[in-house]
Amino acid sequence: MADVRPSTPLEFLKGVGPKRSDALVSELGLRTCMDLVLHLPFRYEDRSQFVGIGDIQGEHVAVQMQGVITRANEVRGGRGSRLVATFDDGERTMELQWFRGAQWIMRNLPVQKQVVIYGKPKLYKGKWSIAHPEVELLSQFELRGGDGLNPVYPSTEKLTRQGLNSAGLAKLIRNVVSQVTPALTETLPASVVSKMKLLGRAEAMRLVHSPKRPEDAQAAQTRLRFEELFLLQLSLLQHKNKVTKDLPGVRFELIGESFNQFFHEKLPFELTGAQKRVLREIRADLNTGRHMNRLLQGDVGSGKTVVALLTALLAKDNGFQAAIMAPTEILAQQHLEGLREMLGDMPVRVELLTGSVKGGARREILEALEVGEVDILVGTHALIEPKVVFHRLGLAVIDEQHRFGVAQRAKLWKKAKVAPHILVMTATPIPRTLAMTAYGDLDSSVLDELPPGRKPIQTVHRTDASRLGVFQFLEDQIAEGRQIYLVYPLIEESATLDHKDLMDGYESIVRRFPMPKYQVAIVHGRMKPEDKAWEMDRFAKGQAQILVATTVIEVGVNVPNASVMVIESSERFGLSQLHQLRGRVGRGASQSYCILMSKAELGADARRRLETMCRTNDGFEIAEVDMELRGPGDVMGTQQSGVPDLKVADLVRDRPLLTSARHLAEEVLDADPNLTQPAHLPLREALETALKARSNWGRIS
Ligand code: ADP
Ligand code: MG
Repeated sequence: MADVRPSTPLEFLKGVGPKRSDALVSELGLRTCMDLVLHLPFRYEDRSQFVGIGDIQGEHVAVQMQGVITRANEVRGGRGSRLVATFDDGERTMELQWFRGAQWIMRNLPVQKQVVIYGKPKLYKGKWSIAHPEVELLSQFELRGGDGLNPVYPSTEKLTRQGLNSAGLAKLIRNVVSQVTPALTETLPASVVSKMKLLGRAEAMRLVHSPKRPEDAQAAQTRLRFEELFLLQLSLLQHKNKVTKDLPGVRFELIGESFNQFFHEKLPFELTGAQKRVLREIRADLNTGRHMNRLLQGDVGSGKTVVALLTALLAKDNGFQAAIMAPTEILAQQHLEGLREMLGDMPVRVELLTGSVKGGARREILEALEVGEVDILVGTHALIEPKVVFHRLGLAVIDEQHRFGVAQRAKLWKKAKVAPHILVMTATPIPRTLAMTAYGDLDSSVLDELPPGRKPIQTVHRTDASRLGVFQFLEDQIAEGRQIYLVYPLIEESATLDHKDLMDGYESIVRRFPMPKYQVAIVHGRMKPEDKAWEMDRFAKGQAQILVATTVIEVGVNVPNASVMVIESSERFGLSQLHQLRGRVGRGASQSYCILMSKAELGADARRRLETMCRTNDGFEIAEVDMELRGPGDVMGTQQSGVPDLKVADLVRDRPLLTSARHLAEEVLDADPNLTQPAHLPLREALETALKARSNWGRIS
């Protein structure tokens, strides 16, 4: 056969062919020999031990045995035929059974030959048997030296039908590894290898597929995972350097009248230490003459808005306009109102542009924008449309809920001759590892301090059995002048049932808290917008003591006097949603509470979510647990969210490796920004190969 190289497409491999190679691509995304080499086992079976039938301990541990299949019969029964064989280990016998593919197995089963069998034993009427055991000729087993840890590979039904179950893949991979690895050279710089105490590249690739000891498997996996994360970080950091070091940015040197007037006359509070620090970080960026590309993370209520506004005022003082982009129309509207209120009578023009600003009003705003009369334009995605032309855009603030991809960010650059500074604000904290990857091309600032005077929200978990006590507590809170949110889940798949729950809940609340003493407002998605607004308003004004609602209130409602958040069927909510909802209270001076109602029986994940909520108010900590439970992709939300495509590493499991990878990548790039030193040539090539193979790294970086 021709030379097998890492880049050789799998269809050219002996024993693969077009049909199997198509399946390898569509099922597992494997195209080349290298992809196959990097298709790592997800666990190993310890095949170093043999046991006899008499040694079988229980049903849970798979066993490996040596012996002879003495006979096999097809037994026809009610639902098709099954195959029953007798296995003899030299001392005792037991049954082996196959319920599927009996005829095919019958033809291929090596009867009266020495075999190795492997499978999970089952006890039935006092006798052990094994269903669907693996069977291999002893001679073959010995030939491949199969006395170590056997890799188990991810496969799929379709691949299994084509003979590529885990064992089939193992055979193919062994073959490829033996041909590909001898020619592989080291890619990582020697300093990195020694600092991380890593195995060599070829050795790792060989060992990971045929380790003799668990430690070997571990070391090999670590090496490969690290390499992937290191390459990813290199690409992100190179991009970051390109943007922040090479792309010219407008210089905001002046702290001028707007900033000063606002700061001294309008700002109703002292900035927190964290806000001051972040502003210094931002100002440092704006002064360099380079392009700012910064992520601002802060928990609900940490005061991101005022940081954005002060930055926008800096833009104005230096003769530039600012854009502030929100994920929804409601939030954009709120930003507009909030900004106008804070600015008061200051001569700063703030306008709103969303999909629903139409006709003459829209034309007027667009014209004012183009001649530079609008200082701050607040809006939704509508802002990045080509028709929106700024006079001199100098700053774009993106207040997002993980919805704004890198490509969209880049569109903003085209809105001005010199790319405007970019400040991305996340609505909820994201785990550090995710920040380092999905936003790895941004500098990062963190608001890790809440404004003073806020009492931590007390959170408790209650089941329906405690409902009477909960209602009593609500009554006491209302007696003290507080207001209450009562939130019900509503998801599309079960919308009708959920809606009924909401209405039932509303009725029982109204019965428990009757008029005229109490007023209960209700808001849900099936109401007309004007009714919704009216009910919301009743609550905001304090006329209603209780607001029963679906998650529509998740974003954007601000009623400082509301101090209790009751979340019904809280086991059905995700962690970040629970945290967002809880963030609706704790905004005033009084002690706030969050009561998580649930049924008594909970699954492990649900219990972990509720337990986490009760334990901490720290959004960063909650985000970490959320990612452990749901995985990085779901935490980031949508497909274009920017979670990088990783083949061997895992952002949750490999957190410490990722951190090291980032630091070491920084070190390498500090010394050799473009990887032009001869010693870094293999690394540069590896990076180029990785960028080609990982479809979305290029988009992220
Ligand atoms: P978020 O980070 O969730 O967007 P906001 O910017 O909406 O938070 O701020 C939450 C509330 O805290 C607002 O009412 C805001 O006026 C107030 N706030 C912000 N910074 C401070 C501060 N340093 N001291 C007191 N209150 C503050
Ligand atoms: Mg906000």
